[in-house]
Amino acid sequence: MPPPPADATRRYVADAVVTMNGDARILRPGAIEVDGDRLTWVGSPDDAVPAAGTDVVAVGGLLMPGLVNAHGHSAMTLLRGAGDGLPLDRWLADVIWPREARLTAEDVYWGMLLGSAELLRSGVTTTCEQYFHPRAVAQAAVESGIRCVLTPGIFDLPGGGAPVTWQDCLDEAAQLHADVHGRQGRLSIGLGPHSTYAVPDEGLAAVAKVATELDALVHIHVAETRSEDDAVRLRLGCSAPELLARLGVLDCRVLAAHSVWLSDGDLDLFGEFDVAVAHCPQSNCKLGSGVASVPSMLERGLRVGLGTDGPASNDNLDLWEEMRLAPLLARGIARDPGALGTADALGLATRLGADALRVEAGSLEAGRLADFIRLDVDDAAFVPGVSAEDILAHLVWAASSRHVTDVWVGGRQIVRDRACTTVDDAGVRREVSTRARRLAGV
Ligand SMILES: [Zn+2]
Repeated sequence: MPPPPADATRRYVADAVVTMNGDARILRPGAIEVDGDRLTWVGSPDDAVPAAGTDVVAVGGLLMPGLVNAHGHSAMTLLRGAGDGLPLDRWLADVIWPREARLTAEDVYWGMLLGSAELLRSGVTTTCEQYFHPRAVAQAAVESGIRCVLTPGIFDLPGGGAPVTWQDCLDEAAQLHADVHGRQGRLSIGLGPHSTYAVPDEGLAAVAKVATELDALVHIHVAETRSEDDAVRLRLGCSAPELLARLGVLDCRVLAAHSVWLSDGDLDLFGEFDVAVAHCPQSNCKLGSGVASVPSMLERGLRVGLGTDGPASNDNLDLWEEMRLAPLLARGIARDPGALGTADALGLATRLGADALRVEAGSLEAGRLADFIRLDVDDAAFVPGVSAEDILAHLVWAASSRHVTDVWVGGRQIVRDRACTTVDDAGVRREVSTRARRLAGV
């Protein structure tokens, strides 16, 4: 069959389409139409208008929105597994930061390329990244084809390498924003001040000023551990969110990663300032940090997404695991199976996560970005699938990333038959392994 003309609308017909739109509508069978990088129509194949020039592709299986990773440092594939068993403060100071001080831009490029391919293969189409050497992160993300909200890491980096200051990082981030933001459809630039403990107050105030000028997303770790909360209270007599409010940071568009140790007053503050949250249950459990109260956040109408965090504290980039762990923890802690619903868990990984990043994806509806994935449902995990509710339940409680076969970002197919077409996986794995040994001093 000859390829369709470049401007042709393409219609994908599947056995099931899980839209994750406002009604979480499920179509069996279903179809979506794509024109350029946007969805133009979603519905039953019987209702599709037989327009001339529409290229119809029968894909079978199940189509759903691509998953959204709301918090990651994916280039840390270079440090996967490092420092297991340590609490966050010692894990950072004794293991992670000394190795990160030795990172070159080329290391980060290869680490991010490997991370991007891993994310894409598991069905993640958008990732929000915070890391060093942001131009290397950007280059790898663009080459892989993933949609990336890149918030360059800003802080004073301790360790044995060349000194890095928050001011250097902020200048570099602002320059990157000027150079590329809004010029490449899949890449947007925000600011990533690390935390209240790794950036001095004057640095956070300076970030807030620049973010306001640029209308940039501020992506920051907040109240990840009890010791972080204790330290701010000891120093200033207030919580980390209260400090961020005082410094003007909450006046910006803020994405607060983790947000484990929040009081009711802090949650109200987040509601007042419309702060979005990236919930990272697996990282928080692995580092023994605690469990964020997602039900309390959703009750207040907060935009909550799910994050893998870096692959040194997870240790993979499989968001399906977060999607299952989030409701497991919420229900187990509350002793209430209604504490976090199945459709809500799927929403955290798709539509709500996209809303947290303010990316027009996460839902299959006309006008949204054509970021979608296909799952093989010819598998025990999708049996019996009697009702539409069963399909949602099977996705959250029985399915996994191994069911993802194909991935499209902005209408472009990136993963085909489980292989990432943009990345030479074996070559990148070898490159990252060699560089990781150097960073570990082996
Ligand atoms: Zn993090």
